[in-house]
Amino acid sequence: MGINSRRVPFLPHNLEVLQRKVPSLFPDSDTLLLQHTFYPFFAAFLSDVNRDELRSRMIVYRQGEKYATVLIPPIISKDVRYCTQCITEDEERFGEVYIHRSHQIGSIDVCHKHRCVLISQCPECEVSLGQLYGTIFLGSTHCPNGHELSGTIDTLHQDEIMQLKLRISKDVYQILNGEIKIGDLFYIYNLLAREMGYQHPDGRYMNQKFHEKFLQRYSPRTLEELGLIPDLLEKRSALQIFSEKNAIRNPIVHMLVLDWLIGGYGQLHKYESAHKKTPIPFGNGPWPCINKVCAKYAQNVITSNKQHYCYSTKRIRGRFLCKHCKMEYRSSCVDGQLEFDFATVKVVEYGPLWHEQLVIEYNKGKSMNNIAASLGANRSTIKKYLLLYMGKKVNQEHPLTKGSLNWIHKLYLTYDQTQSINETSILLHTSKSVVTRYINEREKYEKEILPAMKEAAVTSEVEVEPRAKLMELLERFPGLSRSDLRKIMGSKILSKLMKEEGNGLENILPLTDHPFKSPLWEEEDTKLMLVIKEVCQQLYKNPPNKQIKRYTILNLLSTKDKARIIRYSEKLPRSTNMLDQYLESTEHYQLRMIPHTVALHKKHYGNTTLPMILSSCRYKNCSQQVQLSIQEYLRSKEL
Ligand SMILES: [Zn+2]
Ligand SMILES: [Zn+2]
Ligand SMILES: [Zn+2]
Repeated sequence: MGINSRRVPFLPHNLEVLQRKVPSLFPDSDTLLLQHTFYPFFAAFLSDVNRDELRSRMIVYRQGEKYATVLIPPIISKDVRYCTQCITEDEERFGEVYIHRSHQIGSIDVCHKHRCVLISQCPECEVSLGQLYGTIFLGSTHCPNGHELSGTIDTLHQDEIMQLKLRISKDVYQILNGEIKIGDLFYIYNLLAREMGYQHPDGRYMNQKFHEKFLQRYSPRTLEELGLIPDLLEKRSALQIFSEKNAIRNPIVHMLVLDWLIGGYGQLHKYESAHKKTPIPFGNGPWPCINKVCAKYAQNVITSNKQHYCYSTKRIRGRFLCKHCKMEYRSSCVDGQLEFDFATVKVVEYGPLWHEQLVIEYNKGKSMNNIAASLGANRSTIKKYLLLYMGKKVNQEHPLTKGSLNWIHKLYLTYDQTQSINETSILLHTSKSVVTRYINEREKYEKEILPAMKEAAVTSEVEVEPRAKLMELLERFPGLSRSDLRKIMGSKILSKLMKEEGNGLENILPLTDHPFKSPLWEEEDTKLMLVIKEVCQQLYKNPPNKQIKRYTILNLLSTKDKARIIRYSEKLPRSTNMLDQYLESTEHYQLRMIPHTVALHKKHYGNTTLPMILSSCRYKNCSQQVQLSIQEYLRSKEL
């Protein structure tokens, strides 16, 4: 009664420990996992995420997570089962008897190889042949009470359910022993669901239809025989099979669906290779990571994408996420052209790695162009994110008030360092035109305005009267303009002072920098009217083939005159009037174009007639007068 003591737990949670104990038997944990546990069977139907989780739970013991089994349904038989033929073969070949993994799947109680029912008790004395979590197992072909087990065949009724079990049993065996390798189950499901008509083009599943067809294929009795509750798949049935995220984890259900749809799990790879050529949106991938900062940059490391159909643009949109750097980009394609087109790629999220690098490069004092080049984004993107970053930083540092003494100092300092107006504008949180102005007026600022501001800052600390402060500034810095003074004093204070003091102060202060020059409109109007007259006379001497309209004339004027007519027409009545006089009426235009039109028709059609001319769009619905003129002209040409 040899007892097989080398048994490995089928659903372990600490394979590493075992592997370390007997390294000679098991080269590494993964080999152990694949060859001696149920992992390959359950893993075949799990999503990538769950598969990784199951693997790590089975290999590494983690506190508080005793069982790897939480990820998988309890479908392993509690009684250890044997095929009487298989144990006979085992004994002949190895001198002892083994537990076959493929015989332990709950409802699949048949041996596909010998087409017989498995046993878990001695047929003679009904003694148990072992328990899943027990310690006693069969070591030879004899039961613990010494009865010969080999050859005691329980003849199999070859009914439909048994046939189904045999097919599934074979698939179970092949999956467990690595004889079927499927690339990506859920990718193939994706093709299957569409082709079999259980998924809309937009990705929604046709659950009702799927559920009905499933129950047509499998009777409640069949489902019960296979250990399934008939209404297991009642709601969202197709989703529970085909969707990677939502798929149920019981392999038996998946195997039933596959047996029904394509004749079994074993047919999957045939189906897969037959459909390799079917174009799918964005192709089969993998797709590249486009993050210059990522270690996998430009390598095809993205193996899947999320797709949806956009009804408004009639395009299929895909999102691609690099697992290494978490950069996500999107792309789109249309039905006729499903290839992945790099031109449609747009970054959705740059990812933490990229943002980190942005800050690093920025803190190194690199120029905007350099940062943009090394991060693979354009300058405006870099600018946008730097502003966000600066915004956070500035808020932490108590920002300087714009236009304050320290702020202007910082502006000049920053410009000296970066030599870039754009970068300075970002760092100072202002616009480029403001920076440009400060740079252009730098000499004046450094000589007069800044010292004056310093002065003002000192005096305001000792609460000097605004008027005294102003007088002091005027005396010490005679070069300051009125707007400079406004800046230094603060425009509210200066306005208040001027209101109080009236003309007295007005005479002391420097003149306003840009006194508004109001044109003498009447004079301007007369001048412009003459210009327009001249232009129009020239125009009518050599008229264009188009009707002369308002903009035909306006476009011949100088930019300034054109703008004035458009914006101040009410102040330029004579010019406007002159312009209106020269607008061409439709009738005048039609009359003018008669010879041209006739010549054109003759050139293109060989000849022309009145109806032909009247049907052209230029003369559609023209007046009686015009028609007569055309007739007259045609007659004169005939003569
Ligand atoms: Zn067998
Ligand atoms: Zn017995
Ligand atoms: Zn990446």
